[in-house]
Amino acid sequence: MEVIDGNRIAADLIAELKAEVARIPGRRPCLALVRVGDDPASVSYVRKKGLTAAEIGIESRNLLPPVSITQAELESLVDGLNADPAVDGILVQSPLPAHLDERAVFARISPEKDVDGFHPVNVGKLAQEDASGFASCTPAGIMELLARSGVDLAGKHMVVIGRSLIVGKPLALLALQKRPGANATVTVCHSRTAGLAALVRTADVVVAAIGRPEFVTADMVKPGAVVIDVGINRVADPAKKSGYRLVGDVAYAAVAPLASRITPVPGGVGPMTVAMLMKNTVKAFHLRKGG
Ligand code: NDP
Repeated sequence: MEVIDGNRIAADLIAELKAEVARIPGRRPCLALVRVGDDPASVSYVRKKGLTAAEIGIESRNLLPPVSITQAELESLVDGLNADPAVDGILVQSPLPAHLDERAVFARISPEKDVDGFHPVNVGKLAQEDASGFASCTPAGIMELLARSGVDLAGKHMVVIGRSLIVGKPLALLALQKRPGANATVTVCHSRTAGLAALVRTADVVVAAIGRPEFVTADMVKPGAVVIDVGINRVADPAKKSGYRLVGDVAYAAVAPLASRITPVPGGVGPMTVAMLMKNTVKAFHLRKGG
């Protein structure tokens, strides 16, 4: 069994992007990070994105409107960033406060600056296999992890558990694409799937994106399968100073001995999400500059 080291692979990708950005003459790529309010998880995610951008040499701008911002005000802030020629990528940190319509805000971002890949145009380009679009960062990161771990999906049966717009659905589309590294046969499972355990047992590659701690147990995994754990769940742990620990959607200790390769939590898929955001930002810069 081989543990897929997401920290190392993300660090490799970040080093490659840093070298690429260093070769760019003149203006650096610029990422606008919009965070509404002070939700602690969002504060920490946006900080991490800013730090990683700085490490690569990507300029970042923080826009921190108060939680009281209205839909119209937030959309007008996005309009300003769309119109600003010095901004290449726009990220609006999810989740937004409940009074705001997240989908409408994402759709307001110019598709060519939508480095999170949530705009309907980019979701459409993903379905059409148009490489000028932006794929959402977590599934794109999973594809990169697999490719850099030597896993060729061609002809393999991938079972994705979870059909969210952020992870499950775009990953299924990416794995299904007719291009080297992809070409998987994909099954997508969800809460209404009948006989889920039996389906997962037929998978050469299992991707768990459910949001339920240790949902995938050893009896659901075919020996030799590749197991990708997207889940990030906090479970109470009085032994920890924080009072909790992070666990994935896979029962790691029992599943790992069966798997040929497996991602840990933390240190698997998580670090790739931020790295792919940076990759998309550099791509947006090049596309906007016309090469
Ligand atoms: P969502 O809650 O949007 O989607 C969860 C999916 O799991 C849904 O499709 C749901 O089915 C399905 N599901 C829930 N319960 C069951 C069940 N009992 N049996 C089968 N399917 C079930 O979650 P996300 O996709 O946003 O996130 C999934 C996990 O990944 C979370 O732990 C999240 O924290 C983590 N995550 C990690 C990221 C990273 O960077 N590593 C990035 C994004 C997410 P249905 O559609 O029927 O409700």
